[in-house]
Amino acid sequence: MLTLPELKTLLASPQHIVITTHHKPDGDAMGSSLGLYGYLIQKGHHVKVITPTDYPTFLHWMPNNGDVIIFTEQQEEAARLVAEASVIFCLDFNTLSRINELGELVRAASAKKIMIDHHLEPEDFDDYRCWDINACAAAQLVYEFIVNQLQDGELINKDVASCLYTGIMTDSGSFRFSSATAEVYRIAANLIDLGADQAKIHELVYDNSSENRLRFLGYCLSNKLEVLRDYNTAIISVTKEELAQYNSITGDTEGVVNYALSINGIRLAALIVERTDKVKLSVRSTGVFPANEICKKYFNGGGHRNAAGGASEKPLNDVVSEFKSILEDYKEQLLAG
Ligand code: 5GP
Ligand code: MN
Repeated sequence: MLTLPELKTLLASPQHIVITTHHKPDGDAMGSSLGLYGYLIQKGHHVKVITPTDYPTFLHWMPNNGDVIIFTEQQEEAARLVAEASVIFCLDFNTLSRINELGELVRAASAKKIMIDHHLEPEDFDDYRCWDINACAAAQLVYEFIVNQLQDGELINKDVASCLYTGIMTDSGSFRFSSATAEVYRIAANLIDLGADQAKIHELVYDNSSENRLRFLGYCLSNKLEVLRDYNTAIISVTKEELAQYNSITGDTEGVVNYALSINGIRLAALIVERTDKVKLSVRSTGVFPANEICKKYFNGGGHRNAAGGASEKPLNDVVSEFKSILEDYKEQLLAG
């Protein structure tokens, strides 16, 4: 383990740094990564952001997005950068399985590994950790790392502020989840003072859908939504063929599950999608109901209490049936208050 003074000493001279984040990066994954990138390049480091997979087009506007390497598209270059790095930042995830094949390359690398994350149950692979499950976003932790630990707040320029703001905005559900504390609002206000254009960022992220994406959402809500009132649960399941019919691309299913959760009285919602290799689940809950427990116990996944995910190798219909059969065990909790 590194101490903070040791880490500061390491970062005081130019290093070869890799920043990586989880499979199918979301707004916080990219916001925290490109925010940290924008800071580190000002310090003279050689930095690359490597994502395990591609990510939604509504995140491509972010400053320095053009410098990102996608592992699945440039495996050799990514492997070389990981092997040659002296420092690897792991943002918005805490188990190496979350970055797919990249995980074993990171594990084998001789670099010092720094985890900046807000998920439960971290795996022990890091040398330094900024970890707080109460943080609303990894981007919040990157902000605190730069400002409080490295005392470099003056290097948060408009680019860095815009990325970190995006991470906080997306992971806090536009500042509406309970994780959006007064302190989070103060950080967001600082980021706006430092140049983040909050109205523009909101528009770029949320008002940037293709026509297909919106029609796909309409189809899901009209034809695919199942409301199980006996369990205060709503499920949307989607086949590969339905995705193809709407020319669905990465990011098009993002947020669909929240519509199911927005129905009055619904405490648990799931979007169950048949992908090419496996069935993916996105699960959301309200209050104290543990969505992550269901994902961990039955679907080889995890996440936060109210937002979690998992996967299954079984056929879509079997996964949907399995999900429904689990509900009986949770009936009391689902029907309580
Ligand atoms: P989403 O449903 O948006 O893909 O993910 C929601 C939350 O669940 C995120 O915090 C994400 O990190 C977590 N999550 C999603 N899929 C998985 C998974 O397969 N494994 C684990 N451990 N966490 C997941
Ligand atoms: Mn996050």
